[in-house]
Amino acid sequence: MPVSGSELVKLLPGRKPCKDCGFPTCFAFAMKLATGGTTPDKCPYLSDEVKAKIEEMLAPAIKLVVIGTGENKVEVGNEEVVYRHEKTYVHPPGIAILVSDSESEEKVNEKIKKVTELKYSWVGLTLKAEMIAIKNDSKNKDRFVSLVKKIYESTDKALILISDDLDTLFSARDICFDRRPLLYGITKENIDSAIPKIKERPTPIGLKGDSIEDLIPMTKKLKENGIDDAILDPGSKDVLEAIRDQTFIRRAAIKQGFRPLGYPTIAFPCFMAKDGIKEILLASVFVIKFASIVVLSDFDQYTLLPLLVLRLNVYTDPRFPMAVEEKYYEIGEPDEYSPVLVTSNWALTYFIVYSAIEATKIPSFLCVKDTEGLGVLTGWAAGKFTGDSVAAMIRRSGIEARIKHKKLVIPGRVARIKGELEDALPGWEVIVGPREATGIGAFLPEFVKTLRK
Ligand code: SF4
Repeated sequence: MPVSGSELVKLLPGRKPCKDCGFPTCFAFAMKLATGGTTPDKCPYLSDEVKAKIEEMLAPAIKLVVIGTGENKVEVGNEEVVYRHEKTYVHPPGIAILVSDSESEEKVNEKIKKVTELKYSWVGLTLKAEMIAIKNDSKNKDRFVSLVKKIYESTDKALILISDDLDTLFSARDICFDRRPLLYGITKENIDSAIPKIKERPTPIGLKGDSIEDLIPMTKKLKENGIDDAILDPGSKDVLEAIRDQTFIRRAAIKQGFRPLGYPTIAFPCFMAKDGIKEILLASVFVIKFASIVVLSDFDQYTLLPLLVLRLNVYTDPRFPMAVEEKYYEIGEPDEYSPVLVTSNWALTYFIVYSAIEATKIPSFLCVKDTEGLGVLTGWAAGKFTGDSVAAMIRRSGIEARIKHKKLVIPGRVARIKGELEDALPGWEVIVGPREATGIGAFLPEFVKTLRK
């Protein structure tokens, strides 16, 4: 639950505005604290105890946990809402493929290849699975450790290590400690023995309970020992239980502010379904219903894509359309006589226009005007694709230094801005291009001849 400034101000010293924090009053400081605009250490008169209490109150309802490192790190948690329509979800669930140390070397290699090579380009983003979960089915420590070593050395994916045996688990952890693996599953039976080992080399910990109730004392115990990077598995046996458990944990953390359940969760559709298609359907339920990591027994290019697209859609901020950066883009290797076209920054428009130009094989410049994610015509209607604003963008972009001509192609749908644009860009000739991107294939080859002349 978000904390208010009036709750925080009760903890502040209330000195006659000393302003040492940079704010005119304690209340102004408290209001800024509540919105994340400053930090408690800016007030020099807070005791360590009060500072810690304020930090606890300001902490996100669901802890941010980072698994993996560098470009391949997976950040989960930090969510602020139960329902996406309330605001947005922040960190998409990590998708993991399960590799068992009982599987053949051929199968293991095939899975590693899939998780490292399967990638999809989608509205300018690269969609892929991020994690490998390695399971100690063989119960053989050496076999598990050598598989972890092989995967650690052959990929840079984030790792989940799964073993019931603590000695095996921590031996494997020591191999890939610098990759910040998730260690799963610590239980109420072995948590006391695990804590000293965890403290030796801290990494995120996956807690496995038979129920939600099992998890509460475990997270409390970790916290008392200064360990706060936990991932929860409530041990759901089937999909109905799983939806109930995931929803309960999310609501308890966000609506009730119940800290012992304020952690990301992990779900294992791989253990709930025998059939590959059913497993992907279950995984899609977990993507929608709050899981922070989803572990699959296997996937291929056909089953992974819909899951990744669903995840993208659920975790795209509904308040903002997908947009690309305002600047000029080079298509091919354009030179000083290459055509210059302009469009809006709605991702869909940009990629359609970009692809249509690319298909002509004519190196070109595509200038993209920030319309806050609106299409060309809607952007014009909203006053974000006017002659004046497009002219300002052209000047800002630096495109004039790249070309020897001054001819700019605008979309046919906004032919009406031609006059205004020419007035605002002295010396430029504005050419009205096709109304639809499908017309670029016929238009551009003829237009480029006029530039070369
Ligand atoms: Fe209040 Fe502390 Fe700011 Fe002084 S420094 S105004 S006591 S919050």
